[in-house]
Amino acid sequence: MTRTVFTGATLIDGGSDAAVPDAAVVVEDGVFTYAGPAAARPSVPDERVVDLSGRTVLPGFFDCHVHFLMDSNADFRGKMLTNRPVVNVFERARRMRDTLHAGVTTARDLGGIEAGYRDAVEQGLIDGPRLHVALRLMSHTGGHADFRLPSGFDPSRLLGPFSEIVDNPDEVRAAARRLMAEGADVIKVCATGGVNSPSDQPEDEGLTVEEIAAIADEVRRHRGRPIAAHAQGAQGIKNALRGGVTSIEHGYLIDDEGIDLMLERGAYLVPTLSTFDIDPAAYTPAAYAKKQRLAETAMARLSEAVRRGVKVALGTDSGVGPHGRNLRELAHLVKLGMSPSEAIRAGTVNAAGLLGVEDRLGSISAGKIADFVVCEGDPLADIEVLGDPRAVSLVVQGGAVKKGSLEQFGFAVR
Ligand SMILES: [Zn+2]
Repeated sequence: MTRTVFTGATLIDGGSDAAVPDAAVVVEDGVFTYAGPAAARPSVPDERVVDLSGRTVLPGFFDCHVHFLMDSNADFRGKMLTNRPVVNVFERARRMRDTLHAGVTTARDLGGIEAGYRDAVEQGLIDGPRLHVALRLMSHTGGHADFRLPSGFDPSRLLGPFSEIVDNPDEVRAAARRLMAEGADVIKVCATGGVNSPSDQPEDEGLTVEEIAAIADEVRRHRGRPIAAHAQGAQGIKNALRGGVTSIEHGYLIDDEGIDLMLERGAYLVPTLSTFDIDPAAYTPAAYAKKQRLAETAMARLSEAVRRGVKVALGTDSGVGPHGRNLRELAHLVKLGMSPSEAIRAGTVNAAGLLGVEDRLGSISAGKIADFVVCEGDPLADIEVLGDPRAVSLVVQGGAVKKGSLEQFGFAVR
């Protein structure tokens, strides 16, 4: 069957603010060929018609910041030590499937897994979001990606290579070349300290403007790629922007000058607010104290960035938090002052823009790849419905059903 028509649902296409009631979405050979009012749709004989009355159809969502290597489950390090390595690979595959089933059809892994996971999804070997991968985080000695513990233990012995430790522009360039050679779709730099790093604070500065600019130049020389900056403190955020990054990840302590720079340069903000409602047991006591200290200021500063019109893309930092509940982030974005439809756009069209794939993904319109989800209920009236994976009753990726079945809605060949 190559042509399927989904009718009766309310359509939120990602591109426009207004929802279309009683819509039709037509999928042929993995691509949308029509999306709009049901009354205006072209009809051919012998098409399969699926009745989605009472439900909402939305574009497949993006999560621009995940770590499939990790799991907030406090025992995951212990399990990684005692499992055979191949079991750990299947654990990551399960996290990817859970993420897809939550409604996320495209995800960006910002450090920890190799490009083979992306290729395995592409080749249909495992079910998961289409992946963009950073492979490893770049920071200086003692910076956010230097996870060596006071005991001297280097967690990369357990987790696998997770970091590129670089201390001058030449090392930075060489690291960027290594990552691109290994298949990185995005370069992740640490422009400040962080919550989970043992020897620094969120306000500490990370890579210098000169070092970040060297990465931007290196990336430019190789067909371009987004640069994602882990950046929490105000000065590091500005360093990252002046160096030429594409997105500020976290951005908790952004100041007014930082907001000016974001607007001037068209950079994206990925607030990762889901990390603020994680079980304290998932953090070390020191990390939890840092997180608590940031919470109130972060909400105020990120709200100010939203108010001033900074582009926002959805990201959760899942891995630091639990996987498979990614769309709870939408409700956090609404708390920052976004409308439900703006939050949905942060998770669809805006995110596609950040990843550079807006020509084929991120909205439901003729010619785009058929990634979409069906939600029980009305997320524009209550954005929290999308946060519960049970309300996401159908996930379609490239025209293939990945969660649920068309039979559950009943369909007819007409
Ligand atoms: Zn992260």
